[in-house]
Amino acid sequence: MKIEAKELTKMYGEGENRIIALDKAALEIAQGDFISITGPSGSGKSTLLHLLSGLDRPDSGSLAYDGREIYGLTDRELSAFRRRCIGFVFQQFHLLPVLTARENILMPLLLDKKQPDEAYLGQLAELLGIADRLNHLPHELSGGQQQRVAIARALIAKPEVIFADEPTGNLDSKSGREVMELLKTVGEKMGKTLVIITHDNRIAAMSKRRFSIVDGILTEEVLG
Ligand code: ADP
Ligand code: MG
Repeated sequence: MKIEAKELTKMYGEGENRIIALDKAALEIAQGDFISITGPSGSGKSTLLHLLSGLDRPDSGSLAYDGREIYGLTDRELSAFRRRCIGFVFQQFHLLPVLTARENILMPLLLDKKQPDEAYLGQLAELLGIADRLNHLPHELSGGQQQRVAIARALIAKPEVIFADEPTGNLDSKSGREVMELLKTVGEKMGKTLVIITHDNRIAAMSKRRFSIVDGILTEEVLG
């Protein structure tokens, strides 16, 4: 899946309160890329991620996945597109507390009325080191394990692209690093595109292409 974003601009507020959260952001992402985006709090990182993943629409600009214009889709088409093509990982793991790890992972398939692929679930659980945790409830898991369950959930519908917004923000640095290493390994093994927002430079350093964003202006860092 090739992603092409052009001149994405997003504003909030009116009159004097108007702020430009994102100012003409342009970005091309190839299948299998691993991209990190860093920047201070309030710089527009989440806004960019929401636009790139079709969770939100810009005031102007365009976004295409393999040449297909995303903002031209109706809300219903857009949410179907997200369910099939994109996996999300958030800072708060957003696991449902009354469901086991296994049920949480399978939730996106249930919502899409698809049958679980047990072999694939087993493979994901193995890769992510949670095979012996699948029948546990979230509160019986460590933060790192909960995030690994959330990563399995993001991958269960076999999307080509994973967007992660501060995926290690709620973890101590050791489990944060482990979670990132796993995400990277799974991404590489399965040929997924990864777009990760982080304020941790050590995590950004693991990516293939690094972007930074300041006051809504996105720039790619040229690595020497
Ligand atoms: P980051 O993720 O880098 O911390 P955000 O993308 O969340 O930054 O926010 C960028 C700017 O847009 C901030 O000034 C924020 O206050 C503002 N903003 C974000 N979402 C909204 C919203 N729904 N309504 C008004 N302002 C918003
Ligand atoms: Mg944010």
